[in-house]
Amino acid sequence: MKEALKTILEIQELDMKMLRLMRVKKERIKEIEQIEALRKELHQQLTEKETEITDFGKQAQQLEHKIQEITAKMKKLEAQQGSVKKVEEFNAMTQEMTALEREKITTEQKVSDIVDKRVAGEELLNKIKESLQTSEISSTSLENEIKDSVKLINGEGLSLKAERDRLARTANPEVLQIYERLLRNKKDRVIVPIENRTCSGCHIALTAQHENIVRKGENLVFCEHCSRIHYWQPEEVAVEGTANPTKRRRRRVASA
Ligand SMILES: [Zn+2]
Repeated sequence: MKEALKTILEIQELDMKMLRLMRVKKERIKEIEQIEALRKELHQQLTEKETEITDFGKQAQQLEHKIQEITAKMKKLEAQQGSVKKVEEFNAMTQEMTALEREKITTEQKVSDIVDKRVAGEELLNKIKESLQTSEISSTSLENEIKDSVKLINGEGLSLKAERDRLARTANPEVLQIYERLLRNKKDRVIVPIENRTCSGCHIALTAQHENIVRKGENLVFCEHCSRIHYWQPEEVAVEGTANPTKRRRRRVASA
C-alpha cells in the first residue's frame, strides 16, 4: 500500500498544481471580463451623453422657433393697434402684447438654461472621451498581457496533464479511483500525512491506535473526521514534505 500511495502522491502534487493553475486562469479571465465591462460602460455613457446633447440642441431650436413666432405676433398686433378706434379694443391688444412679451422672456430664459446644460454636457462628453481613450490604450495592453499569460497557463496545463496521464497508467487503479473521488469533493490534498498525531488535512487529533495502523501501511486508512487518506512519513522527511505550507505558498507566487 505504501508503494501504491507513493504514485498517487505524485499524481496528487500534479493535481494540486493543475488546480492552482486553473484558479489563476479563472482569475485572469475574470480580469479580462472586468476590462470589457468597464469599456462597455464608458461607451454607453458616451452614447447617452451624445443623445442628451442632441436633444438639448433640438429643444433649443424649437424654443427659438417659438420666440420667432411670438415676435411675429407682437409685430402684427403693433401694426393692427395703429388702426384700432375703440379704446376697449386698444386696451385688449395692449394686454395681449404684454402677455406675449412675458412669454417671450420666459422662453428666452429657458433657451439660456438649455444652452448652459448643453455646454456642461459637452464638457462632460469630452472628459468621457478622454478617459475612454486612455483606458482603451492601457486596457488593450493589459488585455494582451493577460491573454498571453492564459496561453502560457494552457501550455503548462497540457504538459501537466501529459505527465499525470503517464503516472496514472502506472498507478493502482482502485486507489486512484478512490483518490479521484475524494479530490472531486475536496478540491484539495486528500492524501495527507499524520503530523503530531493529528490529521494534517482537518487538523483534528487522532488516536494512537489509528496512528499505528497508518504506520504499518498495510491498508488504506481514512481520517474518520474528514475522510482523507492518511500516510505516515518519518519526521525528517516531513520537513521537506509535500504538505509544507511555506513551500506551497512560494510555488503559488511563482505561478501567478
Ligand atoms: Zn482529517
